Amino acid sequence: MKFIVDHNVGKLARWLRMMGYDSVFFDGEDDSSMVRQALAEGRIILTRDTEIMKRRVVTSGRLKAVLIESEEPEQQIRQLMDTLDLKHQLRPFTLCLECNQPLVEKSPKEVEDRVPPYVYRTQSQYMECPACHRIYWRGTHWQAMTRKLDKLASVRGN
Ligand SMILES: [Zn+2]
Repeated sequence: MKFIVDHNVGKLARWLRMMGYDSVFFDGEDDSSMVRQALAEGRIILTRDTEIMKRRVVTSGRLKAVLIESEEPEQQIRQLMDTLDLKHQLRPFTLCLECNQPLVEKSPKEVEDRVPPYVYRTQSQYMECPACHRIYWRGTHWQAMTRKLDKLASVRGN
């Protein structure tokens, strides 16, 4: 499952990447170009724009789109988890949150000079983004996000 995230629900892109779902952000003005990109790349459109849902390509089922109901990111994630059953295919820690690139595993030795000493002492697993060269590890920020995801996955909305 791959996504294209409309600018009106832009925060979803980072959350989806964090869950391991390939997600690109669309910030153009022209809805038609978003539709074309979604078709060309096999992406599901996520949007709050009801006009997109009325397009023939969507109503006919040729292109999948999800109308996001809430303005609130946590509710948006919950809606996606429920409607698309995301939580059974979670692959956290596999995509760069900034560039959507697949992360590459690095040994502690390879990143020793590039992470803070306390991180090096306490973490044994590292991933690098081949595009922006950020190093990722399962630190406190990451743990807070995964805890939040676990919570959202376990509480079913109505
Ligand atoms: Zn990156």
